[in-house]
Amino acid sequence: MAELRFDPINRHTVVIAPERSKRPKDEFREKTAFSKKCPFCPGNEDQTPPENFSNGDNVNNWTIRSFPNKYPAFSQLDENGISGIQDIIVESDKHDINMGDFPLSHLKELFQVYKKRLESIKKNKTIKFILIFKNHGVMAGATLEHTHTQIVGLSFVPRQVEKTMQKLKKHFDEEKQCFYCRLAEQSTVIFENSSFVLISPREARFSYETWIVPKKHQMHYEEITDAQLADLSELISKQINTLNSMLDNPAFNIVLNNGLYNQDNNRFFHWNIQIIPRIYYQAGFELGTGTFINQVEPENAVLELKQNAL
Ligand SMILES: [Zn+2]
Ligand SMILES: [Zn+2]
Repeated sequence: MAELRFDPINRHTVVIAPERSKRPKDEFREKTAFSKKCPFCPGNEDQTPPENFSNGDNVNNWTIRSFPNKYPAFSQLDENGISGIQDIIVESDKHDINMGDFPLSHLKELFQVYKKRLESIKKNKTIKFILIFKNHGVMAGATLEHTHTQIVGLSFVPRQVEKTMQKLKKHFDEEKQCFYCRLAEQSTVIFENSSFVLISPREARFSYETWIVPKKHQMHYEEITDAQLADLSELISKQINTLNSMLDNPAFNIVLNNGLYNQDNNRFFHWNIQIIPRIYYQAGFELGTGTFINQVEPENAVLELKQNAL
């Protein structure tokens, strides 16, 4: 039987419907370490806009590089109206590598680049909101196979985010504790290390959706320490590999929720990362109702993830 759950902070409704069967998984056909046609492969740097970060010592001797998105949804920042900054971070020089196969030292370097890019973008005082996200696989919305992360910085706060912030502030004022600090303390933990917990929220929108929450209260990702970067790499690698073996290399999204910028105090916020496997489509029903259908009861997802942990 389906059960309705309501997320009081993000204000979405979820239908927990375990009887619905899983849909076919996404598969990228091409399997190659290098693709001549791929603008993100080494040797094709002239097909992207000029880079704003590279860890290489010459033009194509890099393993991580970043540049502005060639096809942005928002125009470059100007003094008036809606504007934004959009960056692509190419996560590896290898075309078909899965994030789960990154050596931990490389993953840590990538997460260090996230920090550097945030520190650079937030210097622009018109930026109020910065989202870091990753789409892996067609079902997660990726249009290019080569593993990459996207950063979007906006001169306005999206309405949905603003509403969530209001709820988080209300929670903080009434309960005298941050929502995420409480969540980290009270949720059933799937994995943890000294810096982070990995949990599955009761109102998970997607099957096997999990959240990584820092144990320490931090508003912005760029407050992350070197020890936390190492712990984050360990936890994300473990979770991606567990999903890869459990769900046969699923498409997935990673979303880094960060505190606002150039705003009044937002100490009630606590950065977190969502890892969301995309094993079936969300489509017309979700568009028409704003309600998600989750086919795996989150409590069972926790048990399965623990049993299959690598
Ligand atoms: Zn490539
Ligand atoms: Zn907190």
